[in-house]
Amino acid sequence: MISVIGAGPAGSFYASRESHDSVHLFEEHQTCGEPIACTGILTDSVQQFTAIPQELIVSKIKQFKMIAPDGKAMYVDLNKTNMVLDRAKFDQFILQKAIDKGVNLHLGEKFLGYKKEGKEYRIKTSKKTYQTNMIVGADGPFSPVAKAAGILGKREYVKGWQARCRFPSLEEGVTEVHLNLGEFSWVVPEDDKVARVGVIGVDDRKLKEDYKKLLGASKILEDQSGFIPMYNPKQQLRRKKEDIFLIGDAATQVKATTYGGIIYGMIAGDYLAKDKETYIKNVNKKLAKDLWISLKMREMMNHMSEKEANEMVQIFQKKSNNDVLAKHDRNFPSKFMVQLLMKEAKLWKLGFDIFKNKLSSQVFSK
Ligand SMILES: Cc1cc2nc3c(=O)[nH]c(=O)nc-3n(C[C@H](O)[C@H](O)[C@H](O)COP(=O)(O)OP(=O)(O)OC[C@H]3O[C@@H](n4cnc5c(N)ncnc54)[C@H](O)[C@@H]3O)c2cc1C
Repeated sequence: MISVIGAGPAGSFYASRESHDSVHLFEEHQTCGEPIACTGILTDSVQQFTAIPQELIVSKIKQFKMIAPDGKAMYVDLNKTNMVLDRAKFDQFILQKAIDKGVNLHLGEKFLGYKKEGKEYRIKTSKKTYQTNMIVGADGPFSPVAKAAGILGKREYVKGWQARCRFPSLEEGVTEVHLNLGEFSWVVPEDDKVARVGVIGVDDRKLKEDYKKLLGASKILEDQSGFIPMYNPKQQLRRKKEDIFLIGDAATQVKATTYGGIIYGMIAGDYLAKDKETYIKNVNKKLAKDLWISLKMREMMNHMSEKEANEMVQIFQKKSNNDVLAKHDRNFPSKFMVQLLMKEAKLWKLGFDIFKNKLSSQVFSK
């Protein structure tokens, strides 16, 4: 038996791909996908795993509007639209795939801990105990599985304060990103009246101030705030050589630029389901570089002065740079960072030169 803890996108997607004949999925909530703590923006890359049914899509984003601290704005026309999803329905949709595959679903059953018994484990939930061969922690930022296995590591968190709001003056199909509030902040329209509005940060006092500024005269309909783990490059993904694994937020697989984690959790789940023995190698080979670049970009942006942030927006206003952003999926910056660095020397001055060795020693050593 394989025990998967957490029916978020990472856990359900893993369960839908795992071919073992006895997979049990434990979710502490009675309803999967709720409460919502997410904006639900996904790029087109999700379609490599599953076509997204129309009824899950609340709106489509065609443009990003980046607003610099000096108030000047720059638009990125996305070559492929982003989807704003009904996050609860999306989680239920992925869960249905796991159910179709034959997973045994335990809703309203909380993982409490485990004991090792020979080569197996005895897990304890809020209802029963189970003998199991493998435990997959897909249980979110604070991962009780990681804690119980002693592999939570030294992770840090940011807070995402978000609400669904009735918002005055929305541009339909345009996501606003404000660089002067929090680490960054966003207004994502559902239609011309309602938006998902949020700000990211660590300091409560500053968050409160910035959130108030961002919300302005809007009317809060629903609070959707939550915690997000910072990617930790040293995060253990497996307890030693045992059969206890972590995926998704539980494994800090979140890109730190815009704090999106849905796609990464699904990719990690896919790798683990394909072969647990190559899971870590595949994550290191195919995801770690993008996660690392995003982390470094976030550190850089957090240390930028307002003047530098204004300059960065100006640099990306330039058509040739703007085109690179428009064309590529922001989840995978390793695919375009070299191009940007080669096109735009001004980025080096802003600190982007830290990527040159890591990304392409061949290109840059000449
Ligand atoms: C404000 C905000 C906005 C965001 N916006 C985006 C966005 O637009 N796009 C994007 O890609 N990402 C976004 N994210 C991040 C995204 O929500 C996460 O990366 C994603 O949910 C991770 O999926 P997961 O399956 O790993 O974990 P989760 O979605 O957290 O699922 C974990 C599941 O485990 C369950 N669980 C926890 N403990 C136990 C236990 N002891 N027993 C049983 N079950 C348990 C939980 O109930 C939960 O259902 C946002 C996050 C926040 C806070």
